[in-house]
Amino acid sequence: MIDDPVLTRFAPSPTGYLHLGHVVNALYVWRTARQMGGRVLLRIEDHDRVRSRPEYEAAILEDLAWLGFVPDEGLRPLVRQSDRGQLYEEALARLRSTAHVYACDCSRKRLAGEQYDGRCRARGLPEGPGRGLRVRIDPGVERFIDLRLGTLEQEPAGQSGDLLIRDRDGQWTYQFAVTVDDMRQGITHVIRGADLLDSTGRQLRLARLLGRDIAPAYLHHPLVLNPTGQKLSKSEQAAAIREMRRAGLDAHAVIGAAEAALEERRPGF
Ligand code: GLU
Repeated sequence: MIDDPVLTRFAPSPTGYLHLGHVVNALYVWRTARQMGGRVLLRIEDHDRVRSRPEYEAAILEDLAWLGFVPDEGLRPLVRQSDRGQLYEEALARLRSTAHVYACDCSRKRLAGEQYDGRCRARGLPEGPGRGLRVRIDPGVERFIDLRLGTLEQEPAGQSGDLLIRDRDGQWTYQFAVTVDDMRQGITHVIRGADLLDSTGRQLRLARLLGRDIAPAYLHHPLVLNPTGQKLSKSEQAAAIREMRRAGLDAHAVIGAAEAALEERRPGF
């Protein structure tokens, strides 16, 4: 168990505007932190350089402030993944030192599914432009505590196979960046939507390979779905906080809408 003071994070990707799903996540993050006497840190997850935009980042910060979600760690300096390349390099060096890293030239198209078959593991490809980097994931179970779902187990080797940590364009992947960040920032509680539940075992394994000895606690919360039962995407205009503001709703009403959406979902979980 973790005895450190509770530290959690709100970690939006600036690839679209803030929407109702983010508000639900923010409610869980801030409320859980408050209940546990902990703090909240904001991290901009702009590891995807193609899809991230400064104007989305600015809009997210503005909407969050308007809603009254204030990070306890402040906004200066703003923590952005795009500024943390040095830390990712250091983590990569650590994985290299235990011979867990190899170059891979498989295209996303060829792989199609979720699980990587380890095809480049023994090829000994030199690293270089157009080659991604993968980490060897050996068989074995990762066990973790979810504050809502109880003790869970995942088997990352079977789920995803060897993990891509840098893609063929040289971009750090979500799984790698988030693992290094949660570790380096000392996050004790990871609170996020149930859509990311499958990632947890992978991130725990990566963290273990990086030397993290104490696993964080998790809370994977229900997602708000649109009327056709799909996850709200960032481009979903109707759910964008900007649109609600423009339509004249105040912050209280938007938070009420997020709570109501969540209430509607609850029986399904
Ligand atoms: N950046 C991710 C998102 O906006 C959240 C990542 C996480 O909480 O692990 O969906």
